[in-house]
Amino acid sequence: MNNERKPTERKPADHADRTDAPASNFIRNIIDEDNRSGKWGSRVETRFPPEPNGYLHIGHAKSICLNFGTARSYGGVCHLRFDDTNPEKESVEYVESIIDAVKWLGFDWKQDGKDHLYYASDYYDKLYAFAELLIERGKAYVDSQSAEEMRATRGSLTEPGKPSPYRDRTPEENLGLFRRMKAGEFAEGEHVLRAKIDMASPNINMRDPVIYRIRFAHHYRTGDTWCVYPMYDYTHCISDALENITHSLCTLEFEDHRPLYDWVLNELADAGVFTRPLPQQIEFSRLNLTYAITSKRKLLQLVTEGHVEGWDDPRMPTIVGLRRRGFTPEGIQLFCDRIGVTKVDSWIDMSVFEGALRDDLDDKAPRTVAVLDPVKLVIDNFPEGVTEECSAPVHPHHPERGLRTFPISRELWIEREDFTETPPKGYFRLFPGNKVRLRYGYVVECTGAEKDADGNVVAVHCTYFPDSRSGTEGANNYKVKGNIHWVSAAQACPAEVRLYDRLFKEPQPDAGGRDFLEALNPDSKRVVQAYLEPGARDAMPEDRYQFERHGYFVADRVDSKPGNPVFNRIVGLRDSWGKPA
Ligand code: ATP
Ligand code: MG
Repeated sequence: MNNERKPTERKPADHADRTDAPASNFIRNIIDEDNRSGKWGSRVETRFPPEPNGYLHIGHAKSICLNFGTARSYGGVCHLRFDDTNPEKESVEYVESIIDAVKWLGFDWKQDGKDHLYYASDYYDKLYAFAELLIERGKAYVDSQSAEEMRATRGSLTEPGKPSPYRDRTPEENLGLFRRMKAGEFAEGEHVLRAKIDMASPNINMRDPVIYRIRFAHHYRTGDTWCVYPMYDYTHCISDALENITHSLCTLEFEDHRPLYDWVLNELADAGVFTRPLPQQIEFSRLNLTYAITSKRKLLQLVTEGHVEGWDDPRMPTIVGLRRRGFTPEGIQLFCDRIGVTKVDSWIDMSVFEGALRDDLDDKAPRTVAVLDPVKLVIDNFPEGVTEECSAPVHPHHPERGLRTFPISRELWIEREDFTETPPKGYFRLFPGNKVRLRYGYVVECTGAEKDADGNVVAVHCTYFPDSRSGTEGANNYKVKGNIHWVSAAQACPAEVRLYDRLFKEPQPDAGGRDFLEALNPDSKRVVQAYLEPGARDAMPEDRYQFERHGYFVADRVDSKPGNPVFNRIVGLRDSWGKPA
């Protein structure tokens, strides 16, 4: 594991401190300094700018928690802005899924009754007008070289680029051509608009970057109104300035684009479009999570090629997948707090994510009993047709949440692994002659087992001690080392339980250009027919429980119905990945 900073294991009781006193980081230091100097008054306005070309994933959650969380903690606001300038790949379906994901994570974009939801495509008119202004001021020109010619003359890290033969066109000529580009008079690729900066700049992004290109494509919002579309680098900084963003947080790969961000805004400020101070771009390291993929393109491939059952497959690191898996918004936020923000790219271990989830769920999840690999246990001296009521705390550390009750009777379901004929050293559960406690019930002594023709155990037999019942005085007279869970066969709730595991076998499935599909874990989903404590019949979709001894489980939000629940394993009780069961 090589974390950015080793997350300290905090006890669940410490969760409350996280909103009161957010951990300091280099971004908060910059904001604090701006507040001291009065740069923005005390305004903090950030934005989360997804492109609606796919579903959000856990990497985006880091950016969401950072942008929305930072703004919130300073009493500011974070805008949700769709960066929708690539007409070919974007859609309303993605817009809606992104809105849902951000809301579900616990954030909103309202301040003082104003809804800060924006679309870069709403700025097309302004972006176009600013481009004409740059042309008029001699800061942009129409280049008519082919894409190959432009690539060939761009230079390299060691050599400067060569100026285009069209670089010295007059503003009038450029304006005429740009208007004709917009009017649809040229084919795609025939001309582009470039910023006129410096073909010899050591930063290749500053060598007259393209800021507009021709695309005859239907846009999901603006339809066929436009056939010229602005490039990301040009659009992004202007969108920030139009929305009065103070701190524009983005991932490290944009560090080399910052001079261009500043150039565009400074040119437009000089032209009187924007006033200073101008928004400041600040970069942080992206989240890389082991055993997960955080590339939209590869996630799309998993879905379209059928390696998973959809964007919301509980094994997917998408927000919809994590939600269906049973992860909580609070657990995801806790994880993002723990990993913090730095400027150093690194990998975070999946166990850190799962640990945050457990810490959140441990306190919240009511306890229940589930037998996932059932075999019958018959208590031969228990009267037939009789049931007695047993009880257990809903939560062992929260007596105020009360007790749950469930019946015990002559025939129970227990875990197959809780019986063996030949116990290995240290095995304290059922074997002939051994006594164990049926959790919250009686002490029983194993008398043997029935087998089928193939030698498989079909029923285990035992006798019970009527004076050994948990919670009664007699219970103390029995000292047993084993304690097993069970449900009464006649009243148990049968349920499908989906045992999910990590989607990949390798910690870095796509490292070194490897085909990530080869790292898929063939055992990432196992379905069992289980028997649950009768109360589980009342589970509503998205209700979460701790199945005692097994881990945390959620009633599936799509397939589970009250009375007929279907459960997903969220995470086991402890980190057992890679360790023998
Ligand atoms: P694309 O390849 O489509 O650009 P993207 O992952 O960059 O994919 P965007 O929709 O552009 O997706 O991302 C929105 C915001 O989320 C950006 O500010 C981006 O920097 C941030 N982001 C994306 N992936 C991560 C990640 N793994 N960790 C942290 N932030 C991320
Ligand atoms: Mg992006």
